[in-house]
Amino acid sequence: KLYNMVQDLKGNIRVYCRIRPSFSSESKNVIKFIGEDGSVVILDPAKPQKDGRKDFQFNRVFGPTSSQDEVFKDTQPLIRSVMDGYNVCIFAYGQTGSGKTHTMSGPSGGSTRDMGINYLALNDLFQMSNRRKDIIHYDIHVQMVEIYNEQVRDLLAEDSSTIRSCPTDSGLSIPDATMHSVNSTTDVLNLMKFGEMNRMVSSTAINNRSSRSHSVLTIHVHGKDTSGGTLRSCLHLVDLAGSERVDKSEVTGDRLKEAQYINKSLSCLGDVITALAQKNSHIPYRNSKLTLLLQGALGGHAKTLMLAHVSPEEDSFNETISTLKFAQRVS
Ligand code: ADP
Ligand code: MG
Repeated sequence: KLYNMVQDLKGNIRVYCRIRPSFSSESKNVIKFIGEDGSVVILDPAKPQKDGRKDFQFNRVFGPTSSQDEVFKDTQPLIRSVMDGYNVCIFAYGQTGSGKTHTMSGPSGGSTRDMGINYLALNDLFQMSNRRKDIIHYDIHVQMVEIYNEQVRDLLAEDSSTIRSCPTDSGLSIPDATMHSVNSTTDVLNLMKFGEMNRMVSSTAINNRSSRSHSVLTIHVHGKDTSGGTLRSCLHLVDLAGSERVDKSEVTGDRLKEAQYINKSLSCLGDVITALAQKNSHIPYRNSKLTLLLQGALGGHAKTLMLAHVSPEEDSFNETISTLKFAQRVS
């Protein structure tokens, strides 16, 4: 019954695009138009006006001046549906430096201003739980893992170096990753700080690893209503590894292996979402750790939001085009 409380009007897969502000006064801006209706026009700096024009269409576009709150407001209905029993996945996709972590976690440096979706979502779910407390009692737990080179690491475990075992097909939780009860935004901030620290430890050891791993924050919701009905659902908030292609002639060894793992898992994610959008009978979840881990929340009644991030500068043109193409493919 709770399951049907929210009517799904928009379909299960949505794609938004966010363009971060330009940080360079020298570099030209290649983004020529951003429409209220979700359209984006890019101009190839190497080609004359007409030939170089590329048009894209998304469910929504956020320009360089959009605030964290604006982005959150548009994702809020989706986030809230987890309290009604829907499973939801939100992905931040894009090249390194395009603003994925800014959108999901907030600005670098750990300030509590301009907090990202992770924090705003949990804060909103707490408030909602409180408003509904006379009809439903909610328990909220979180897990946070990192996937690096197809290996899963628990970011909230005391001993975070442990490589966790492969997940099973069924169920929503990530087997073996520690589960933490949260009751307030303070709890959440502390856990996120802990998880970030765990991530940083490894990134100093292996030069800035965080941009080459996927981080998955999972919010588990368990609700019990006064008549004894229960619901279980989860929200996965995923900060994906940088989507930039590395030049195979320039990297070797570990860096090449890393790049290949990233390419493979991002293209698997694209394949899964495309297969879901096309309502194919076979969904290739098993081709990557990420999709295997999230499969309980991808497909069926679950809802998916892809947040494609791009940089506006001319020198990012090729990556911007490839990000927008990826996003267009899954929409
Ligand atoms: P990514 O996670 O994709 O590698 P980041 O989120 O780390 O990128 O963003 C790169 C830099 O740009 C960071 O210093 C970040 O704070 C800043 N930044 C990204 N998006 C925005 C935005 N919308 N507004 C202001 N600063 C931003
Ligand atoms: Mg990042």
